[in-house]
Amino acid sequence: MAQLQGIRGTRDILPDEVVRWQWVESTARRILSQAQYREIRTPIFEQTELFARGIGEATDVVGKEMYTFTDRGDRSITLRPENTAGVVRSYIEHSLSARGLQRLWYMGPMFRYERPQAGRQRQFHQLGLEAIGSADPRADAEAIAIATQILKSLGLKSLKLDLNSVGNREDRLNYRQALIDYLTPYKEELDADSQDRLTRNPLRILDSKDKRTQEIVQDAPSLLEYLGDFSRNHFEQVQTLLTDLGIEYQINPRLVRGLDYYTHTAFEIQSDDLGAQATVCGGGRYDGLVAELGGKETPAVGWAMGLERLMILVEKLAQVPQSTLDFYLISRGELAQRQSLKLAQGLREAGFAVELDLSGAALKKQMARGDKSGAIACLILGDREAEQQEVQLKWMATKEQQTLEQSDLLSNPPYLRQQLDKHS
Ligand code: ATP
Ligand code: MG
Repeated sequence: MAQLQGIRGTRDILPDEVVRWQWVESTARRILSQAQYREIRTPIFEQTELFARGIGEATDVVGKEMYTFTDRGDRSITLRPENTAGVVRSYIEHSLSARGLQRLWYMGPMFRYERPQAGRQRQFHQLGLEAIGSADPRADAEAIAIATQILKSLGLKSLKLDLNSVGNREDRLNYRQALIDYLTPYKEELDADSQDRLTRNPLRILDSKDKRTQEIVQDAPSLLEYLGDFSRNHFEQVQTLLTDLGIEYQINPRLVRGLDYYTHTAFEIQSDDLGAQATVCGGGRYDGLVAELGGKETPAVGWAMGLERLMILVEKLAQVPQSTLDFYLISRGELAQRQSLKLAQGLREAGFAVELDLSGAALKKQMARGDKSGAIACLILGDREAEQQEVQLKWMATKEQQTLEQSDLLSNPPYLRQQLDKHS
């Protein structure tokens, strides 16, 4: 029978790698909860309409990348390509607005039908943050600061923060026309996608990857010149706050997020260590989305980090702390083997990390495995120890060995912990 394989664009995260993921996840959790962001878990599928409305029909995500299917009840369902729309849907549905500013975060799989390559998958994971209910520029700067703090805590340096403002709806409408006027004479020279976007979503042309389009766009009018007083003021305040925080940034007037609901602040954090897929984190303000999805006008800001890309960096650049194994327990003989599981469980319940050797091999062979296991100590149960209700303890660092009553080993866990620390 042919061997079955995982689906193209998906990956198994094997145990060796999961260690890295868990470290990243726990670091992020700690930082987010310190800043009083709370986790929200929404379903991985939603009505297709949520994304069509919340992300916008003219975007690549909705136009080309969604996993959409009809379920048995004839409803159009889509696997979430991102989670801001889902979080906002939930915020509206459960009237979270009544409780004031909501600082929320999420982590989980997202789905986009894209061409798989390094740092680009069809099922990938995002960590995201949403602060819903504040128009204060401090909310923008706080969101950016937390993203930066997470990346720094993971030991990642030399990351680049690009910042822009896409203004409010009115600014963008004015700019949109100016951009169309500028680009129209070049229409035939633009790449096919950009030609298509010229009337539908001209701002997206600014981040086209096509060489000739990029050249043309170089001299296009800048969105920043079209910002009204309110938008300009907001943008300046965000910059001042970032400077106060010692966070370096560069203004990139071509930075427009792919999604239609963004207003004011837009930002991206990139790394040179990622090759073509350089963006680890993207986000910004989306004051228009809550109302777009049927809620009250509500200002909001957020970001999403691509965890696969983050893991590529962590693997290259960071030191992932190893988890420690306290005891490696070996046994030989019927009675000893029977006692071994009870001893292992007793130690585990007292808070120690224990690996129980189940091989039944000669003690010497098991000992060699214990050596490799990285355990601080080996516990040895042979026939003699089993009969006496004793156990031999061998400290791996010094090779010192001592015989203990099994019950003594468990009688004073804090003391045992001290001994382990001393020998680790
Ligand atoms: P890109 O330009 O790389 O396609 P995007 O603008 O589509 O990015 P966002 O929708 O802003 O990306 O998602 C935020 C982050 O999620 C990205 O910066 C990236 O790190 C990650 N990401 C997006 N799509 C994928 C994917 N297909 N595979 C892996 N990570 C992804
Ligand atoms: Mg994309």
